[in-house]
Amino acid sequence: MPEALTQAETEFPPWLAPNWARLSQARAADRLPHALLIAGPRGVGKRLLVERLVRALLCPSPLPDGTACGRCPDCRLVRAGSHPDLLRVGPDPESKSGEIPVEAIRELRGRAMLTAGRGGRILVVIDPADRMNSAAANALLKTLEEPPGPVLLCLIAEQLGRLPATIRSRCQLVRQGIPPLDLALRWLEAQTAGGEGGDVAVAVRLGLARGAPLRARDELDSSVLDQHARLRTSLVGLARGELDPVAEAAAWSPVGARLSLDWLAGWLCDLLRLATAGEDARLNDAAGGPALAELAARIDPLAAHRLLRRVLQAAGLTDSTVNPQLLLESLLMEWSRLVSR
Ligand SMILES: [Zn+2]
Repeated sequence: MPEALTQAETEFPPWLAPNWARLSQARAADRLPHALLIAGPRGVGKRLLVERLVRALLCPSPLPDGTACGRCPDCRLVRAGSHPDLLRVGPDPESKSGEIPVEAIRELRGRAMLTAGRGGRILVVIDPADRMNSAAANALLKTLEEPPGPVLLCLIAEQLGRLPATIRSRCQLVRQGIPPLDLALRWLEAQTAGGEGGDVAVAVRLGLARGAPLRARDELDSSVLDQHARLRTSLVGLARGELDPVAEAAAWSPVGARLSLDWLAGWLCDLLRLATAGEDARLNDAAGGPALAELAARIDPLAAHRLLRRVLQAAGLTDSTVNPQLLLESLLMEWSRLVSR
């Protein structure tokens, strides 16, 4: 039996410890750069890492382990969201695009200059930094080239490729990857103790979340799992020619384009794995194994690769002007031709 996780490990997952140790050593040695770029998939704990660092840097009397004391006036101000030396930049919640506009970065520069008089370091969290539009990215580049005082910029990003190389090269990269499977499972079990479904459900959810434990905890409740199972049934029916792609696309729409495309990509990967590795393949959708194995025996792998590429490209466009319904219809039509009957 592996040891149970401690309360502290449940709150700050153990797989973040190596990055935290590096950051806190850099801090102790006064070697933190002007800009950090914390990158990794959704749901691995990038924000927990940044929050711990930000709090520690703003606390004048940190604990022996380097974390914030949690009790001093600075810590209280951070918790209340009103610390004057902590600036947060994100997309305008009113905006449909979900982008960080250039005004937000310009305002940040102005505020950082105003606050800098207070003496300490200004901390800026840009989240998600990969959602800056190009004007915002250009404005940020100026800030990175000529910081308006002693600042530490923390950029949080899922997709590094969406950030200009000029920005990436001026930040110190901190990669946070998917944790080891056993650790992720233990943490998720501790998080969902007493929940429905037990160990099997935990493994299934972790698979659907591509191994990202926070995503498995936050995004995959039982109603989402039900939807996932329904869409798998729909895919199998389409592949057998029993269902109509246009009607099915309408049935998929309540799930939303982002999740639909993510799942479709997951199933295509599973089919390709099954087609090459057979029954030993480790699947995203462990619960769908038998149904998928039957399809995998009849797909054209080249066509499946082509469709997977289209799905991944489409996933990068879902928040732009593409009509999600038409997009899904076209992808499901291609899917229905993938399997020979
Ligand atoms: Zn404190």
